[in-house]
Amino acid sequence: MSLDKYKQKRNFRISPEPSGKSLAGARPKRDLLYVIQKHRASQLHYDFRLEFNGVLLSWAVPKGPSLDPSVKRLAMQVEDHPLEYGGFEGVIPEGEYGGGTVMVWDNGEWVPEVDDVAAALQKGDLKFTLQGKKLHGSWVLVRTRGFGSKPDKSWLLIKHRDKLASTEDITVAQPRSVLSKRLLADIARENGGDVEKAATGDPAKGSKLKSPRTTKTPARKKRAKSQ
Ligand code: MN
Repeated sequence: MSLDKYKQKRNFRISPEPSGKSLAGARPKRDLLYVIQKHRASQLHYDFRLEFNGVLLSWAVPKGPSLDPSVKRLAMQVEDHPLEYGGFEGVIPEGEYGGGTVMVWDNGEWVPEVDDVAAALQKGDLKFTLQGKKLHGSWVLVRTRGFGSKPDKSWLLIKHRDKLASTEDITVAQPRSVLSKRLLADIARENGGDVEKAATGDPAKGSKLKSPRTTKTPARKKRAKSQ
């Protein structure tokens, strides 16, 4: 666990992301942080982060989490991030590493369902419970046979079967920040980012609501008949 890779990839004189300078040692014992950041970079993805040994273990999940236990979501492990990164919401300047808009999509605590987290990570099978604002219940990260240039970095994020499993698409049903209730486009607008690009990561306008226009034609006909 080291933040060397995190620091190598970023220029903190340009990006507003946390530099990871603060030391994580000598903290009082408390629950382990869990956070998902929705990130509209070159591709939209959800950064899934679990606190362990003073850093945030991190996986990029292109499609985001699914509450459906039959759905396995690819999760590419990326460099460890500093703990304070979990509170970062804003805009990384274009041209910088990960340039684009970042939203804190969910946060809370996580509880390992194994005795030895380091051993579970090594084995590639980490079971845990999430106590977030959006995600709850039992989940697993399993390492899978990868492909491409990083075969050992491929994991799958899967919801376990419990009473919190569901076929609802939570990324569509709950698209807003848990910190600020903003959509990606709002965050970009208020932080000098690319609003149009950010908006492509928000649900399409009217995707959940039926257009009120569909009721107009029959209403007019009805009125015409009665006159
Ligand atoms: Mn990211």
